[in-house]
Amino acid sequence: MQGCVLVRYGEIALKSDQTRKWWNKILLDNMKECLDKNNIPYSSIEVLLGRFIVYTDSSLEASNALKNVFGIKSLSPALKMEANYEAIKEKALELSKNRGKKFRVSARRITKEFSMTSNDVNETLGAYIKDQLDLEVSLLKYDFEIGIEFLEGYAYLFTERIEAFGGLPLGVQGEAICLVSSGIDSPVAAWLMMKRGCKVDLLHFKITEEGYKKYLKIKERLQKFSYGHEIKDYIIDGVPYLANTKKKLSENKKEKWVCIFCKRRFLQEAERICQEKGYLAIITGENLGQVASQTLKNLSLLDSTVKLPVLRPLLAYDKQEIVDIARIINTYEISKEKEPKCPFTPLYPMTAGSMEELETIERMLWD
Ligand code: ATP
Ligand code: MG
Repeated sequence: MQGCVLVRYGEIALKSDQTRKWWNKILLDNMKECLDKNNIPYSSIEVLLGRFIVYTDSSLEASNALKNVFGIKSLSPALKMEANYEAIKEKALELSKNRGKKFRVSARRITKEFSMTSNDVNETLGAYIKDQLDLEVSLLKYDFEIGIEFLEGYAYLFTERIEAFGGLPLGVQGEAICLVSSGIDSPVAAWLMMKRGCKVDLLHFKITEEGYKKYLKIKERLQKFSYGHEIKDYIIDGVPYLANTKKKLSENKKEKWVCIFCKRRFLQEAERICQEKGYLAIITGENLGQVASQTLKNLSLLDSTVKLPVLRPLLAYDKQEIVDIARIINTYEISKEKEPKCPFTPLYPMTAGSMEELETIERMLWD
């Protein structure tokens, strides 16, 4: 018998052989990096059909760390043993002691060489444990579950299933740059794109010292999910441009436009970095209608600034949904820390700027 973690992965299983091999390799490397970075000893990792098996004596710690590796759907600290019913029966009985009254057995044959069907195992083993320990089988409301997966001649026994985030292995979808502030939204946007397999680097415009300090802490939290990629970041001092632009706009009674010019500047700088370093897209934390300036009209004005795709993974999320994710990824407590308001935000920002007016102002300002 051997201690291990049963790692279930999701969408990779749907891919062609060739893609699956490539993605599996990336996921495997990311898992190793995660275990190493968290100082969790393991002897090897086996790649099987739809499952990875991590051999380790620290299977609970390993599961909790690997939970943050994208591409993994769920994990169970498990015991690997010969697929022999008598042996399984005794081990399952031992695992069932002192865990509560109601239980169920959930067997699954991933490969089919074991002679009993999953249902046979559920019923026979369930009845045996019930009689031996005077327990009650309850399929819906149970205190504990005995899980068994049969795979390539072995049985894996477990009592816990830890949900992970799913998504795709980080690195299978290329590199993008995310505009990250110190607010709640943009760290979540970066995380969601990481979850879909992108290596994400960050671009922050420093406007206040407090905002910058929060940003640095946010970056650290995001790194805890970026196995397979050391996050690089780019910091630009936003004050000179904003101070100058706000002054010029105010002189021309166009102060309302400050935020649009500010965001356009962000995108232009992001695109310049993308072209220099080879990033494929720009990510922002913008959302439709969350603040007055995030209207469809304004977003289309912003898109016209650059040629590269601007990805907005939060576009259709409700605020609460974003906050829920921010809490899970531990950026929420940082983002919600008080900081001074952006000193350049006008009292009434433009909500529906037209392209014509934008072009007129641009000519007026920079001629
Ligand atoms: P966030 O919560 O990320 O601040 P928000 O909903 O408050 O987003 P805005 O403040 O209008 O929206 O900013 C829109 C987007 O512009 C942000 O989601 C982020 O991608 C980018 N952004 C805003 N401020 C900065 C900054 N200081 N540095 C880099 N990117 C920024
Ligand atoms: Mg903000």
